[in-house]
Amino acid sequence: MPSVTAPATPTVPVRGGGSFQVHRIYCVGRNFADHAREMGASAPASPAERGRPVFFLKPADAIVIDGVVPYPPATADLHHEVELVVALGRDAPPGELRHDQAGALIFGYAIGLDLTRRDLQAEAKSRGLPWDIAKAFDHSAPVSDIIPGDSDIASRSITLMVDGGRRQHAALSDMIWSIADVLVELSRLYILRAGDLVFMGTPAGVGPLQAGDTFTASIDGMVELHGRITPPLA
Ligand code: MN
Repeated sequence: MPSVTAPATPTVPVRGGGSFQVHRIYCVGRNFADHAREMGASAPASPAERGRPVFFLKPADAIVIDGVVPYPPATADLHHEVELVVALGRDAPPGELRHDQAGALIFGYAIGLDLTRRDLQAEAKSRGLPWDIAKAFDHSAPVSDIIPGDSDIASRSITLMVDGGRRQHAALSDMIWSIADVLVELSRLYILRAGDLVFMGTPAGVGPLQAGDTFTASIDGMVELHGRITPPLA
Protein backbone atom coordinates (compact mmCIF):
# COMPACT_ATOMS: atom_id res chain seq x y z
CA MET A 1 0.00 0.00 0.00
CA PRO A 2 1.28 3.52 -0.71
CA SER A 3 2.13 5.62 2.29
CA VAL A 4 2.89 9.26 2.92
CA THR A 5 5.44 10.68 5.32
CA ALA A 6 4.61 14.16 6.64
CA PRO A 7 7.22 16.58 7.95
CA ALA A 8 8.34 15.87 11.51
CA THR A 9 6.57 17.60 14.40
CA PRO A 10 8.27 20.96 15.04
CA THR A 11 10.18 21.21 18.31
CA VAL A 12 11.49 24.12 20.38
CA PRO A 13 14.61 23.76 22.58
CA VAL A 14 14.12 23.96 26.34
CA ARG A 15 16.71 25.86 28.33
CA GLY A 16 18.67 23.41 30.44
CA GLY A 17 18.08 20.56 28.02
CA GLY A 18 15.18 18.75 26.44
CA SER A 19 12.79 19.78 23.74
CA PHE A 20 9.16 20.86 23.44
CA GLN A 21 7.06 19.28 20.68
CA VAL A 22 4.63 21.83 19.25
CA HIS A 23 1.02 20.69 18.94
CA ARG A 24 -0.94 23.89 18.17
CA ILE A 25 -0.25 27.63 18.17
CA TYR A 26 -3.04 29.80 19.58
CA CYS A 27 -2.79 33.59 19.38
CA VAL A 28 -4.63 36.32 21.26
CA GLY A 29 -5.51 39.56 19.48
CA ARG A 30 -5.93 42.99 21.10
CA ASN A 31 -4.61 42.08 24.57
CA PHE A 32 -2.95 45.45 25.20
CA ALA A 33 -5.16 48.54 25.14
CA ASP A 34 -2.49 50.74 23.51
CA HIS A 35 -2.12 48.31 20.59
CA ALA A 36 -5.90 47.94 20.13
CA ARG A 37 -6.12 51.71 19.83
CA GLU A 38 -3.20 51.99 17.36
CA MET A 39 -5.02 49.44 15.14
CA GLY A 40 -8.18 51.55 15.22
CA ALA A 41 -10.12 49.22 17.55
CA SER A 42 -11.69 50.32 20.80
CA ALA A 43 -10.10 49.21 24.08
CA PRO A 44 -12.22 48.22 27.06
CA ALA A 45 -12.50 50.89 29.74
CA SER A 46 -12.75 48.30 32.52
CA PRO A 47 -12.50 44.51 32.96
CA ALA A 48 -16.30 44.32 33.03
CA GLU A 49 -16.40 45.74 29.48
CA ARG A 50 -13.74 43.58 27.92
CA GLY A 51 -16.09 40.97 26.40
CA ARG A 52 -14.30 37.93 24.92
CA PRO A 53 -10.70 37.76 23.68
CA VAL A 54 -9.97 37.68 19.93
CA PHE A 55 -8.34 34.34 18.98
CA PHE A 56 -6.69 32.99 15.85
CA LEU A 57 -4.28 30.13 15.14
CA LYS A 58 -1.08 29.52 13.26
CA PRO A 59 0.06 26.11 12.00
CA ALA A 60 2.59 24.35 14.23
CA ASP A 61 5.17 24.39 11.44
CA ALA A 62 5.11 28.21 11.30
CA ILE A 63 7.62 27.95 14.18
CA VAL A 64 11.15 29.25 13.52
CA ILE A 65 13.76 28.41 16.17
CA ASP A 66 16.95 29.86 14.65
CA GLY A 67 15.61 33.41 14.20
CA VAL A 68 16.11 33.34 10.42
CA VAL A 69 12.90 34.53 8.71
CA PRO A 70 12.70 34.79 4.93
CA TYR A 71 10.59 37.79 3.83
CA PRO A 72 7.22 36.15 3.08
CA PRO A 73 5.48 36.12 -0.29
CA ALA A 74 2.31 38.02 -1.20
CA THR A 75 2.95 41.06 1.00
CA ALA A 76 4.66 44.44 0.88
CA ASP A 77 4.02 45.16 4.57
CA LEU A 78 5.43 42.50 6.92
CA HIS A 79 4.94 43.65 10.54
CA HIS A 80 6.50 42.61 13.85
CA GLU A 81 4.39 41.92 16.95
CA VAL A 82 6.50 40.95 19.97
CA GLU A 83 4.60 38.64 22.35
CA LEU A 84 4.95 36.53 25.47
CA VAL A 85 4.53 32.86 24.54
CA VAL A 86 3.06 30.43 27.08
CA ALA A 87 3.99 26.75 26.61
CA LEU A 88 1.59 24.11 27.94
CA GLY A 89 3.08 20.97 29.45
CA ARG A 90 -0.09 19.08 30.33
CA ASP A 91 -3.42 18.22 28.73
CA ALA A 92 -6.35 20.17 30.16
CA PRO A 93 -9.09 18.20 31.92
CA PRO A 94 -12.34 17.84 29.92
CA GLY A 95 -14.61 20.85 29.79
CA GLU A 96 -14.07 24.46 30.75
CA LEU A 97 -11.08 25.12 33.00
CA ARG A 98 -11.53 26.77 36.34
CA HIS A 99 -9.33 29.81 36.80
CA ASP A 100 -7.38 28.07 39.59
CA GLN A 101 -6.59 25.09 37.30
CA ALA A 102 -4.88 27.13 34.59
CA GLY A 103 -1.46 27.48 36.20
CA ALA A 104 -0.96 23.72 36.46
CA LEU A 105 -1.03 23.41 32.65
CA ILE A 106 1.93 25.75 32.15
CA PHE A 107 5.34 24.27 31.36
CA GLY A 108 7.22 27.49 30.71
CA TYR A 109 7.58 30.69 28.72
CA ALA A 110 9.29 32.04 25.62
CA ILE A 111 9.43 35.28 23.66
CA GLY A 112 8.11 35.23 20.12
CA LEU A 113 7.03 37.32 17.16
CA ASP A 114 3.51 37.06 15.73
CA LEU A 115 4.62 38.10 12.24
CA THR A 116 1.78 39.60 10.25
CA ARG A 117 1.17 40.44 6.59
CA ARG A 118 -0.46 43.73 7.60
CA ASP A 119 -1.66 44.66 4.12
CA LEU A 120 -3.53 41.37 3.80
CA GLN A 121 -4.95 41.76 7.32
CA ALA A 122 -6.21 45.27 6.55
CA GLU A 123 -7.91 44.00 3.40
CA ALA A 124 -9.47 41.08 5.31
CA LYS A 125 -10.75 43.40 8.03
CA SER A 126 -12.25 45.82 5.52
CA ARG A 127 -14.07 42.99 3.73
CA GLY A 128 -15.14 41.12 6.89
CA LEU A 129 -13.01 38.10 5.93
CA PRO A 130 -10.90 35.75 8.11
CA TRP A 131 -7.33 36.70 9.06
CA ASP A 132 -5.70 33.38 8.17
CA ILE A 133 -3.67 34.49 5.14
CA ALA A 134 -2.43 37.52 7.11
CA LYS A 135 -1.33 35.53 10.16
CA ALA A 136 -0.91 31.81 9.47
CA PHE A 137 1.89 31.76 6.89
CA ASP A 138 5.21 29.89 6.73
CA HIS A 139 7.93 31.21 9.09
CA SER A 140 5.41 33.50 10.81
CA ALA A 141 6.20 32.38 14.38
CA PRO A 142 9.86 32.80 15.43
CA VAL A 143 10.31 31.83 19.10
CA SER A 144 13.12 31.68 21.63
CA ASP A 145 14.09 28.70 23.73
CA ILE A 146 11.43 27.84 26.30
CA ILE A 147 12.28 28.69 29.91
CA PRO A 148 10.64 26.26 32.34
CA GLY A 149 8.65 27.58 35.28
CA ASP A 150 8.81 31.16 36.64
CA SER A 151 6.05 32.14 39.03
CA ASP A 152 7.20 35.76 38.59
CA ILE A 153 6.20 36.12 34.93
CA ALA A 154 3.40 38.67 35.45
CA SER A 155 5.86 41.20 36.89
CA ARG A 156 8.19 41.04 33.87
CA SER A 157 8.30 43.13 30.69
CA ILE A 158 8.84 42.37 26.99
CA THR A 159 10.90 44.35 24.48
CA LEU A 160 11.61 44.31 20.74
CA MET A 161 14.72 45.98 19.28
CA VAL A 162 15.10 46.28 15.48
CA ASP A 163 18.56 47.22 14.17
CA GLY A 164 19.43 48.48 17.65
CA GLY A 165 16.39 50.76 18.08
CA ARG A 166 13.59 50.02 20.52
CA ARG A 167 10.31 49.41 18.70
CA GLN A 168 8.09 47.81 21.37
CA HIS A 169 8.22 47.61 25.16
CA ALA A 170 5.53 46.84 27.73
CA ALA A 171 4.90 45.45 31.18
CA LEU A 172 3.10 42.10 31.09
CA SER A 173 0.91 43.43 33.91
CA ASP A 174 -0.70 45.64 31.22
CA MET A 175 -2.31 42.67 29.47
CA ILE A 176 -6.11 42.98 29.37
CA TRP A 177 -6.52 39.18 29.74
CA SER A 178 -4.08 37.44 32.09
CA ILE A 179 -2.54 34.10 31.21
CA ALA A 180 -5.13 32.28 33.35
CA ASP A 181 -7.95 34.30 31.80
CA VAL A 182 -6.78 33.34 28.31
CA LEU A 183 -6.42 29.64 29.11
CA VAL A 184 -9.95 29.57 30.60
CA GLU A 185 -11.37 31.27 27.50
CA LEU A 186 -9.46 28.96 25.14
CA SER A 187 -10.74 25.91 27.07
CA ARG A 188 -14.32 26.91 26.18
CA LEU A 189 -13.44 26.66 22.49
CA TYR A 190 -10.71 24.00 22.12
CA ILE A 191 -9.23 20.96 23.86
CA LEU A 192 -5.94 22.30 25.25
CA ARG A 193 -3.09 19.81 25.05
CA ALA A 194 0.51 19.37 26.10
CA GLY A 195 2.56 20.96 23.31
CA ASP A 196 0.27 23.91 22.75
CA LEU A 197 1.81 27.38 22.53
CA VAL A 198 -0.19 30.53 23.26
CA PHE A 199 0.99 33.88 21.86
CA MET A 200 -0.41 36.38 24.35
CA GLY A 201 -0.82 39.48 22.18
CA THR A 202 1.34 42.50 21.40
CA PRO A 203 1.69 45.99 22.88
CA ALA A 204 1.82 49.22 20.85
CA GLY A 205 4.63 49.97 18.43
CA VAL A 206 4.05 47.39 15.71
CA GLY A 207 5.69 48.29 12.43
CA PRO A 208 7.32 47.07 9.24
CA LEU A 209 10.32 44.76 8.83
CA GLN A 210 12.50 44.64 5.71
CA ALA A 211 14.94 42.06 4.37
CA GLY A 212 18.25 42.77 6.08
CA ASP A 213 16.73 43.91 9.39
CA THR A 214 18.05 42.29 12.56
CA PHE A 215 15.94 41.97 15.69
CA THR A 216 16.25 41.08 19.36
CA ALA A 217 13.07 40.15 21.21
CA SER A 218 13.19 39.57 24.96
CA ILE A 219 11.40 38.78 28.14
CA ASP A 220 13.57 41.23 30.03
CA GLY A 221 16.09 39.58 32.31
CA MET A 222 14.90 36.10 31.29
CA VAL A 223 15.41 35.19 27.61
CA GLU A 224 16.37 36.80 24.28
CA LEU A 225 15.68 35.80 20.69
CA HIS A 226 18.13 37.14 18.10
CA GLY A 227 17.08 36.97 14.47
CA ARG A 228 17.04 38.58 11.06
CA ILE A 229 14.85 38.96 7.99
CA THR A 230 16.44 37.44 4.89
CA PRO A 231 15.51 37.91 1.21
CA PRO A 232 12.43 36.06 -0.07
CA LEU A 233 12.88 32.38 -0.87
CA ALA A 234 13.29 31.83 -4.59
MN1 MN B 1 -0.42 39.38 17.70
